[in-house]
Amino acid sequence: MNAPDTRILHRQIHHRLPVAAHASGVTITDTAGRDYIDASGGAAVSCLGHGHPEVIAAMHAQIDRVAYAHTSFFTTDVAEELAAELVRTAPEGMTHAYFVSGGSEAVEAALKMARQFFVEIGQPQRRHFIARQQSYHGNTLGALAVGGNEWRRRQFAPLLIPVTHVSACYEYRGRADGETAEAYGQRLVQELAGAIDRLGGENVIAFVAETVGGATSGALTPVPGYLKGVRDLCSRHGILLILDEVMCGMGRTGTLHACEQEGVVPDLITIAKGLGGGYQPIGAVLAQGRIVDAFAKGSGLFQHGHTYLGHPVACAAALAVQRIIHRDGLLTEVQRLGYGLRERLQAAFGAHDHVGDIRGRGLFQAIELVQDRASKNPFDPALKLHARIKAQCMERGLMVYPMGGTIDGARGDHVLLAPPFIATDADLDAIVGRLADAV
Ligand code: PMP
Repeated sequence: MNAPDTRILHRQIHHRLPVAAHASGVTITDTAGRDYIDASGGAAVSCLGHGHPEVIAAMHAQIDRVAYAHTSFFTTDVAEELAAELVRTAPEGMTHAYFVSGGSEAVEAALKMARQFFVEIGQPQRRHFIARQQSYHGNTLGALAVGGNEWRRRQFAPLLIPVTHVSACYEYRGRADGETAEAYGQRLVQELAGAIDRLGGENVIAFVAETVGGATSGALTPVPGYLKGVRDLCSRHGILLILDEVMCGMGRTGTLHACEQEGVVPDLITIAKGLGGGYQPIGAVLAQGRIVDAFAKGSGLFQHGHTYLGHPVACAAALAVQRIIHRDGLLTEVQRLGYGLRERLQAAFGAHDHVGDIRGRGLFQAIELVQDRASKNPFDPALKLHARIKAQCMERGLMVYPMGGTIDGARGDHVLLAPPFIATDADLDAIVGRLADAV
C-alpha cells in the first residue's frame, strides 16, 4: 500500500490509507497503480460510478455561469430545476425541496422543520421524537440523538433533544419462531403504539426511521405491512413520519424512493448521498405541502439555513445525475442487477457456516456474519471481523462497507454492498468472487 505520512486528522487515527489517484466507472486506482472495484459506491454514494462525462460537463458549464450565489440574495435556475425535478418524482403531496450539503444536515433540517411545524400550528408542547435502535441518521448532535447506536451516542450524552428508541425491524434476529413476517411487523407497530401512549401522543413530534436500514444495520428491510402500520398509527396521533432515505434512497433499492415499495407516503423524506452521486456534496429534505403551508401562513420563515444550501454546482451535478438515471432506465437496471447480486451472494454464501443472513433490496445488499448458523451468535466484537474483512477485500482490490457487531450481541458484524448502477454482470461476478475469497 502506498500510504503517505498524513497531517489530515483521519477518522481512524492509526490507519494508513492508499492515495486515490484516478477514478473511472466502477474503479478507483491508487498512486501505486492498484485498481479497486468500488462495490460500496463509497458509502452508497457513487450511483453513476466515477468520472461520468455528462455530469462533469454539467458541473463545468455551471462553474462557468455561476459558481456560487448566496441564497439570501439569489436563487438559480439550476437549483429551481432540480427542486422541480425532485418534486415531480416525489411521493404524493410533496411540494418542496429544501437543499443542504449532506445527509446529517438533511436530518437536522427535517427534525427542525418538524418541530417548527408544530410551533406554527399551535402545538408547541410536542417535543419528543421516537426513533429506532441500531439506526444511523448522521453524526451531528441532533442526528446523533435520533440515531440508535449506543456506542456512537454514549460519550456525547446528554444529547440535545428527547428521543425514545423502539426496536428496529430486524427480521433475522427479531422475528420469533413460528411468527409470520406480518405478525412480527404488527408486533413492532404495537411496541411503537406503547411508546406513543407512554409519552402521550399529543407530545410527540415525529417518528424517524430509515426505510431500509443502512450504515449501522446492514440493509435491514421492512417486513410487509410494517411501515403501513407505522404510517396509520402516526396519522392517528397527528405525529409526523420522517423517513431517512439518505442511504437507501435515490434509486438504490430499485425505485427512486425506497418507501414507494411500501406504499407509504411520509411527511418528510431526507435524501443525500446518491442525489449528487458523489460529484458534489448535496442533500435535501422533501416536504409535504401542508408543512410548507403552515410555514407560509405562519411566521413565513424556516428558522434554519446553511451557507452552501442550494449550491449551484452541486445542483448542476445532482440534476445531471437524476436526468441520466431516468433517461437511461437505471431504476429498472438496479432491479435487474439487484436480483443478480442477490443470486450471486446466495450462491457464494447461502450455505456458508459463518453467514447467517443475506438481505437487502436492489443494489443495497448485505451479509451478516455469525459464529454458526444454528445459534446465530455474533462473533466477539473485539475480533473486529468487519475491519479484517475490509482489509482483506482492499488487498484483493475491492471496496466494501463493513460494520462491527455490538457488545450486547444485538447485531453481528456485517458487510454492505452498494455498487454503482452502471456495474456490469462481470463486475458483479468479480465483486462476489473477491468478497467470498476475503471472507
Ligand atoms: N442518514 C443515513 C440513513 C445515513 O446512512 C447517513 C450516512 N451514512 C446519514 C444520514 C448522514 O449522512 P452524511 O454522512 O452525509 O452526513
